[in-house]
Amino acid sequence: MKQARVKKLATSRIKKGYPMIVEQDFIRSPEVTEGQLVELSDETGKYLATAYFGREKRAIGWIISKNKGNVLDAGYFVSLFEKAKTLRVPFLKDETTTAFRLFNGEGDGLGGFTIDYYAGYAVFNWYNQGIYSYRSVILEVFLKIFPEIKGIYEKKRYRTAHEETDFVTGEQAPDPLLVLENGIRYAVHLDDGLMTGIFLDQRHVRRTLMEEYAAGHSVLNLFSYTGAFSVAASMGGAVKTVSVDVANRSRKKTEEQFDVNGLPTEDHEIRVMDVFQYIQYGLRHKLQFDVIVSDPPTFARTKKRTFSVEQDYGELINQLIDLTSPDGVLVLSLNTWTISREEFLDIIRSAFADKQQAFEIEAEFGVPADFPVKEEYPEGNYLKVFFVRKK
Ligand code: SAH
Repeated sequence: MKQARVKKLATSRIKKGYPMIVEQDFIRSPEVTEGQLVELSDETGKYLATAYFGREKRAIGWIISKNKGNVLDAGYFVSLFEKAKTLRVPFLKDETTTAFRLFNGEGDGLGGFTIDYYAGYAVFNWYNQGIYSYRSVILEVFLKIFPEIKGIYEKKRYRTAHEETDFVTGEQAPDPLLVLENGIRYAVHLDDGLMTGIFLDQRHVRRTLMEEYAAGHSVLNLFSYTGAFSVAASMGGAVKTVSVDVANRSRKKTEEQFDVNGLPTEDHEIRVMDVFQYIQYGLRHKLQFDVIVSDPPTFARTKKRTFSVEQDYGELINQLIDLTSPDGVLVLSLNTWTISREEFLDIIRSAFADKQQAFEIEAEFGVPADFPVKEEYPEGNYLKVFFVRKK
């Protein structure tokens, strides 16, 4: 097997259980091809761990084991998926929620791919070509451990070229496929680009919005995509929702989510426009919402401007405070590990301080239990959501 020595800092990280390898870790970059296994050793040549090589945005590979001799064979994936399945027993049993994550990459023991479950179908996300080279053994073992799976889809996230079909094997899913989440129906499309229509990691947030914050209230949903938060709010008794997203697809997709739940669309406005334009409109007309959900992408470029959470989230929150009713609630979501929980709290605090507005944080969410996070890899908990009440 290929051998490579890593620097001191990488040595101590790997010893502590950090699962990711980056280019700078190596004393001399080994010549390896995607998927190749490499034995990593410290500066003196002492064995540390075995990794596979797979290039992603940050990673250049992932640790597979700290035991010499382990390789990515059927036996390896059997124990990986058996462990993952044990953790999902309560999820697989829950009849009111049929969409969740089955395998969460490094959080479940091996980085580079994830698997989501949608009402009997599995969607694989491949983050590098290295792990993709093990696809056939992975799929074979997966179907042995999860024989109940009806069909498999995949998204290759390491190449920009869009595949003609994401369908891999088994039965094809209906389109749309209806899944349940806390009793709410969501229409998902398993063969329509990288996104399926619902972000599974926000399940707790949708539930809290539905059960505790929606009844009798008006809700503004910014960066609404398929309007999942609007549907949850509406099912929870919101008297009005406004969903704002700049993408043309969002109107049809949001209508579809309301339809499949039998919700009348009269009280639910869908605005296909730039959030920042909508905010200006709202401020001019002195609109007020009891609840505002803000779930922006980490970075986005529209015709008019670019938005990055690092640069612009503070200003966005600042403006949203004025659109929130006295005593109303802001649901502020952040989807990146690059800003820590404390940094995000600072952004929120200074936005409120700037308005001389008191506030209280009433609830907080990270990723749910089906997105396990490896303690040594805190980046895995990228999600931070705060329910902030204007006081
Ligand atoms: N909140 C959504 C997910 C948001 S995904 C959910 O719960 O499902 C991010 C969305 O932001 C995308 O749909 C994208 O079209 C939209 N978006 C990005 N920049 C925008 C802008 N400036 N104005 C409005 N929408 C924007």
